Amino acid sequence: MLAVVTGGSKGIGEAICRQLANDGYTVVVNYNSSGLQAERIANEIGGYSYHADISNLEEVKSMIDYTIQNFGNIDLLVNNAGISVVGLFHEISQVDVKKILDINLNGVFNCTSEVVKHMISKKSGNIINISSMWGEVGGSCEVHYSATKSAIIGFTKALAKEVGLSGIRVNCVSPGVIDTSMNEHLTEDDINSLKEEIPLYRLGTPQDVANVVSFLASERASYITAQDIAVNGGIC
Ligand code: NAP
Repeated sequence: MLAVVTGGSKGIGEAICRQLANDGYTVVVNYNSSGLQAERIANEIGGYSYHADISNLEEVKSMIDYTIQNFGNIDLLVNNAGISVVGLFHEISQVDVKKILDINLNGVFNCTSEVVKHMISKKSGNIINISSMWGEVGGSCEVHYSATKSAIIGFTKALAKEVGLSGIRVNCVSPGVIDTSMNEHLTEDDINSLKEEIPLYRLGTPQDVANVVSFLASERASYITAQDIAVNGGIC
């Protein structure tokens, strides 16, 4: 079984790569800027690292061509790579608006369109998208981020309807506050007040998310498609 995980070089993506390797997948660890980390992870899990900025369609095409040429098939695509932009809505620069749309939304379109055509011809496949609780309920000072993540939930549900007959499942996982570098801007006070709002009274770990991806990727989830599964400690 072959899985491509975008943004596998750290955080949630790294945990997903490691879990999928434990589950028996050969994993292509996609990265953009963290090449050494991706290479180390790939070596440790017996996988392969591959550079592609997911916002660049040509780079995505090269990654998927490489994967198909070397492994013949892609069983699972995990669209994990993403960035956040924090600030008041009207103060976010146009450069940052373009960047977040290009990565969080167009990046997912690029990877999925290149992979799904192979899955359609094989009449099987599994696509798991990483959205966010902010995509479900909206996050103040992360309006553009929330918009891209809401779009990923809509994308998941629509694509699932389109490709179900081709034997392809499409689901989405929406993490709450997970302890990764994406949240390194939070102060200890921020984290403590967030914990007060989380019924399970802790931040999530990357492994919490990887566990659900592992389940959705497995045959145990064979009748689950078009779903958005929250992994958020009960916060919303
Ligand atoms: P992270 O630690 O900042 O990691 C982000 C990953 O995305 C890195 O591996 C990075 O790769 C990759 N990436 C960024 N831009 C890319 C590009 N243009 N092309 C390819 N890869 C790119 O973040 P994280 O917390 O693990 O987040 C992973 C996913 O979970 C994101 O989609 C995020 O929105 C979502 N999420 C996170 C949280 C949270 O609280 N942490 C909550 C909800 C949802 P390089 O370092 O190689 O560039």
